[in-house]
Amino acid sequence: MFNTLIANSMPYMPKAFVGFFAKRYVAGATPEDAFSMTQALNSEGAMGTIDLLGEFTDDINKAKQTVEMYKLVLDNIKTKNLDTNISIKPTAFGILLNQETSTKYMTEVINYAYGKGIFVRIDMENHPYTDYTIDLYLTLSKEMPKSCGTVLQACLKRTQDDIKHITASTEQANIRLCKGIYKEPDEIAYNNRKKVQENFLECLELLFQKKAYVGIATHDDVLINGAMELIKKYKLEKHEYEFQMLLGVRSELRKRLLAEGHRLRIYTPFGEDWLPYSIRRLKENPAIVGSAIKGFLTCGR
Ligand SMILES: Cc1cc2nc3c(=O)[nH]c(=O)nc-3n(C[C@H](O)[C@H](O)[C@H](O)COP(=O)(O)OP(=O)(O)OC[C@H]3O[C@@H](n4cnc5c(N)ncnc54)[C@H](O)[C@@H]3O)c2cc1C
Repeated sequence: MFNTLIANSMPYMPKAFVGFFAKRYVAGATPEDAFSMTQALNSEGAMGTIDLLGEFTDDINKAKQTVEMYKLVLDNIKTKNLDTNISIKPTAFGILLNQETSTKYMTEVINYAYGKGIFVRIDMENHPYTDYTIDLYLTLSKEMPKSCGTVLQACLKRTQDDIKHITASTEQANIRLCKGIYKEPDEIAYNNRKKVQENFLECLELLFQKKAYVGIATHDDVLINGAMELIKKYKLEKHEYEFQMLLGVRSELRKRLLAEGHRLRIYTPFGEDWLPYSIRRLKENPAIVGSAIKGFLTCGR
């Protein structure tokens, strides 16, 4: 309870204090930080997905800067020969202003990445953007085959229908499946851990049946074990799926999955706007705050 209280108070605390707990989740403030983190992950055998932090913007200049920063990232991925793709979010490209703006800017980035042969994942944000994100993914993957993929959230009741719709509309769907981080209303979402876990595994099985390429994005042992059983059941080869994890979370699991020979991708965020993302991550696992405080108090003993 103490940990939850501290985690919930983070938005009101000094940035430097939050940074003490949060630095594990982000590569750093600059693109160079993201490149060197990706190099380190690659040398461990993991792939990356670089994400520029800074979402929910209603500033057109910021949306334009996001386009330019992603182009710089894409240039560097190519010249530095990094094994990584990128993740992008509609609210970072101005969807709060209007859909035309975000569509124009996201298309520009995906087009630029496509020219360099680099894959783009369109992250899934909260439910007002679900239809938009799926439609954009389907449109762009038709125009630029295999250029991009999107994300589906097991917490949403609609997700199995979305899987059927997506896999009927595109040749090989490329989907990251996760639980979903956003607090959604009971009418449209399962707000019960067990139900989300059940739906996650049902969605994963459906995706495998529909021959989608899946990024299995979880650190939950129940889901990792369930995924392993499904991988066996459908006799999938190692190149037919991948696991995905967040930077700073469960490094022992990361090592285990790599040692077992699975493809593993680490979500690697960077940028000046690291605060909201880090707070979200800390609220997700308040125990981290407790163990960091313990570590801080006991260091030097
Ligand atoms: C690669 C990747 C991309 C994602 N993309 C999206 C997206 O586009 N849209 C979206 O809504 N959500 C996204 N998520 C977040 C996801 O929806 C979950 O909120 C998050 O992964 C936690 O769920 P879990 O399955 O790991 O289960 P949990 O039950 O939350 O975690 C299982 C265990 O993992 C560890 N753990 C989990 N989170 C943390 C943490 N923050 N700090 C320390 N330890 C932790 C703990 O040991 C915990 O017991 C993504 C997650 C991943 C891994």
